[in-house]
Amino acid sequence: MAASTANYALVFSRRRLLIGIGFLILSTVAVIAIKFYDSYARQQMDADYIAFSSEIVRAQHDGDSLRQSTLNLLDHPEALHQRQILQALWVINSRQVTIEQYLLRSSLTEEDLGHIMVEFSHLDTLLRKAQNIADNALEQPEQVPSLLDLTEDIDNSLAYIYSELHALMIRGATEQQHIMSVMTKIIMALGTLVLVVIFGLLVAIEKILGQQNELEHLSITDELTGLENRRAAMNRAKHILTLARRSDEPVSLAIIDIDHFKRINDQYGHPFGDKVLKQVALQLKQSARDSDILARIGGEEFCLLMPNTDSRGANELCERLLRGSRSMIITHREDTIPLTVSIGLTTTHHQDDYDFDTLYAQADEALYRAKAGGRDQVESYMPSTRG
Ligand code: GH3
Ligand code: MG
Ligand code: MG
Repeated sequence: MAASTANYALVFSRRRLLIGIGFLILSTVAVIAIKFYDSYARQQMDADYIAFSSEIVRAQHDGDSLRQSTLNLLDHPEALHQRQILQALWVINSRQVTIEQYLLRSSLTEEDLGHIMVEFSHLDTLLRKAQNIADNALEQPEQVPSLLDLTEDIDNSLAYIYSELHALMIRGATEQQHIMSVMTKIIMALGTLVLVVIFGLLVAIEKILGQQNELEHLSITDELTGLENRRAAMNRAKHILTLARRSDEPVSLAIIDIDHFKRINDQYGHPFGDKVLKQVALQLKQSARDSDILARIGGEEFCLLMPNTDSRGANELCERLLRGSRSMIITHREDTIPLTVSIGLTTTHHQDDYDFDTLYAQADEALYRAKAGGRDQVESYMPSTRG
């Protein structure tokens, strides 16, 4: 009993440990997954290449419109064309500021951007010079041809900047693709890990439940014969007797004891005695009814509780058990060993009888008489002899 309690405690502490480990692993997996998604989302925000690239595509026409406006001014030195030049310069300038700000906000490094920033400041100088000339174009028209040269330089500078930005964009997109594929692999690995952990937990729970069932089974079973043990028989008997008392149904109890079993042990050894015990248990089981409770309650002593069975029915069944025992063929090498049992029987007659200990004492008394009367017989308890 103490050992089985210790086993239970061990199983439960192991279960707690397993559940704890499983929970820890799942939590870690969840935290890692969230962290990865978080960092990935940040990278996505940093590299908003689609918006950026559309800005660059639009910017590529800025140089053309500046040149066209300058040519127009050369042909027709009018305020309208001057305004167009100023406007083109403003557009180039403001777009440059937007792109510069974007680049500074992005996760691109000094190494990536250094040469582009240098070109931006060169472009800035060119734009300022062009702005000066354009501002005074109507007053000093002889300066306008040099504006055309500047336009050429601005165009080249823009072309250089945009081609470098384009290369950066392509590199960024490739990196993004790489990150995506690594992320996909990580997520798949994490998913598999979670499944493995869940599967492991299920297997562990299944195993624990199996062990628990086995322990429960062991705690109510007699190890040698596989019959119920004394404790299980008593528990079930109490339940059956309570119900039977309420409905006033008779219950019979028989104690079956093997005759001269000690001799078998002495002559053939204890292990052989064990085999005989198993054989007798099987024989009794086959002779009893399914509704009866058969248990091994002592060394070579069995009890049979017969619900809803009066003394006559119980007696008939016990006679059958006697016949069954006599007919058993037990052999040891060339020896055939005769075997008989004695049975003490009792049946409930009074309300007070519906108690396992009372019935057991009555049956034991009857058994004593069966032994004294020469064995291999059934003796019933006589209520009149009660005292
Ligand atoms: P009786 O007819 O008066 O019942 O005689 P008996 O020899 O059967 O009774 P006794 O009480 O003198 O001896 C019972 C024997 O049962 C003694 C003990 O060694 C043996 N025994 C008890 N438990 C076991 C067991 O688990 N295995 C084996 N092999 N023998 C057992
Ligand atoms: Mg005995
Ligand atoms: Mg005996």
